[in-house]
Amino acid sequence: MANGSRRAGGAGQEGRSRAAGKLAAEAAVEPDVGGREGRAVGGGLQGDDVRYDRALRPKVFADYIGQEKHKENLRVFVEAARRRGEPLDHLLLSGPPGLGKTTLAQILAAEMGVTLHMTNGPVVEHKGALAGLLTKLGPNDILFIDEIHRLNPIVEESLYPALEDFQIEVVTGEGAFASSIQIPVNPFTLVGATTRTGLLTGPLLSRFGHAVRLDFYPPEELARIVARSAELLGVPITAPAAHEIAVRSRGTPRVANRLLRRCRDFAEVLGSGAIDERAVGTACERLDIDRAGFDEMDRRLLKVILDDYDGGPVGVETLAAALGEPRDTIEDVYEPYLLQQGYLGRTPRGRIATKRAYDHFGRARPAGQAALQAGLFVED
Ligand code: ADP
Repeated sequence: MANGSRRAGGAGQEGRSRAAGKLAAEAAVEPDVGGREGRAVGGGLQGDDVRYDRALRPKVFADYIGQEKHKENLRVFVEAARRRGEPLDHLLLSGPPGLGKTTLAQILAAEMGVTLHMTNGPVVEHKGALAGLLTKLGPNDILFIDEIHRLNPIVEESLYPALEDFQIEVVTGEGAFASSIQIPVNPFTLVGATTRTGLLTGPLLSRFGHAVRLDFYPPEELARIVARSAELLGVPITAPAAHEIAVRSRGTPRVANRLLRRCRDFAEVLGSGAIDERAVGTACERLDIDRAGFDEMDRRLLKVILDDYDGGPVGVETLAAALGEPRDTIEDVYEPYLLQQGYLGRTPRGRIATKRAYDHFGRARPAGQAALQAGLFVED
């Protein structure tokens, strides 16, 4: 909680009730469709996600499934900040898309009883835009900046005094007549979200009082998320079907919710209306989602390494060119799950397909490949 001592003068809740805060937060939040890297199954919000997002998104800690350790810590920070009438300390949320960073920011605002203001790194184009955002914040409000690693460096620098002293510098006049004045802003909390902590500058990183790294969800937790969403959608689902959706959802709640909705379509049109294992099987077969939860793109990525580059190593730029996808999308969206599950390895000379990848496609790993790769492997 590095910034706590600088919070002298932090205004209280000014009589805002929790319920009122929650409503305000909901009103302030518009799903952000544009700024994220999209992906048919794994990436950002798209299509009917936006429509269902509001209905399925947990609104309080009690509905946010999994990530227990982080949740418990955040509960304590919220309670402590509320008792003191101060804003939460600045918080960095990191992890691959769809794991619940935006949801957590919304929950924090609701639990604090404050308003959430959402924006996206690249959208805040200049200092004036940032000043506009900061001067709109009420006491203890939360400013959520998604993709904070893509913030313009000049904007980022002008954010520092706001984070530390709740002041912004405004320049008036031009040339020799230019002068700057400090304008106070209300004490607030910055919640930054990023898919890649490694791209944040040191000075920005050091200004967060706490960082939460969200991990992929184990199948049991995803199955609970699926069951909860099915109930909210009013569609019956069997426990084995919820589990099957969970194991095919790349450890990602957004993917699980999307697959659930597709299963519901198949169950309603081709089945009894209830989602059973058969409906999940049909949906996955038609959508080309295999047993490991891989879609077309995951398989293409692994096959390029296996078939075109003899199992690797392959540089990420080469991979990006072969797949026709931006490097960032490969690194942020496709790779993390394949790495975490041990299908892909990252070495200084590029990506390699592991034995697990060969096994997945029913192929034998060429003799010598294991030894070659073992020599390349370093933890990064
Ligand atoms: P991110 O901001 O990390 O890309 P989101 O917060 O937008 O991810 O989450 C994507 C969707 O997944 C949300 O709409 C929400 O319905 C669901 N979700 C995420 N995390 C959880 C969770 N822990 N419990 C239940 N649903 C979740």
